[in-house]
Amino acid sequence: MIAVAPSHCEIATKKGMGRLGHELVVVHFSHPHPLELTSLHQQPATTCAGCSRTLSDRAYSCKACGYALHVSCAQMPQRVRHPADASHSLTLLPSGGGSFSCNACGADGSAFFYHCGECDLNLHCSCAALPLSVVHAAHLHPLTLFFFPPYENRGFSCDVCGHPGSYQWVYSCAMCGFDAHVGCATAAEEEAQANHPWHGSEGGGSAPHLALQKMETGVGVRKIDKRKAKRLAKRIAITAGTSLICTIL
Ligand SMILES: [Zn+2]
Ligand SMILES: [Zn+2]
Ligand SMILES: [Zn+2]
Ligand SMILES: [Zn+2]
Ligand SMILES: [Zn+2]
Ligand SMILES: [Zn+2]
Repeated sequence: MIAVAPSHCEIATKKGMGRLGHELVVVHFSHPHPLELTSLHQQPATTCAGCSRTLSDRAYSCKACGYALHVSCAQMPQRVRHPADASHSLTLLPSGGGSFSCNACGADGSAFFYHCGECDLNLHCSCAALPLSVVHAAHLHPLTLFFFPPYENRGFSCDVCGHPGSYQWVYSCAMCGFDAHVGCATAAEEEAQANHPWHGSEGGGSAPHLALQKMETGVGVRKIDKRKAKRLAKRIAITAGTSLICTIL
């Protein structure tokens, strides 16, 4: 018999970490049960509760509840500072089955969002990660992100799609009066980023453009030691056999 040294992956797994160093079990604020790192074919859901997009890789999931999060969505910071709200930090919230209206793009959302109660500010996570300026093929100059239309009537007409916008964020060239909805100004760029600004790197959770100041992470991994992780994994196996109903779905 030839002794083969265990691969790096095996060593990492024994230490309670998955491939690429992700924790095998995490406690996440959005779900009452521990979430287990699962490969694509083991996942109990097809979409991520954090961003509503299709799961395409490993995810953190609760099999008993059919709840799953992209690894990067599970790592989105729970509190951030954002230039749209100079006075307060924004809190990451699950939509709790309801929906919110996003102040940035004007569309409704039903996944995680960043919120300030005092300012009544709600942002899609992807909108919270919008770059402060973009270059768009339809205009010669860089466009700057304004957190409200820089006009007296708080409205604008989008020079990309031709539709109006009001009381929402806008990318503008102030010099030329060129305006674009945030979605219109970033459509091509989003495609280039696989439709998910938070999924920019395997490390996950970091916005590639806007330096959001992370205040605390949404994952309670640091509170779990290896023995507890084992116990939690066992509990997941047990709860998976029962039909627990989650209130936060
Ligand atoms: Zn996601
Ligand atoms: Zn659950
Ligand atoms: Zn939005
Ligand atoms: Zn605020
Ligand atoms: Zn538009
Ligand atoms: Zn211009």
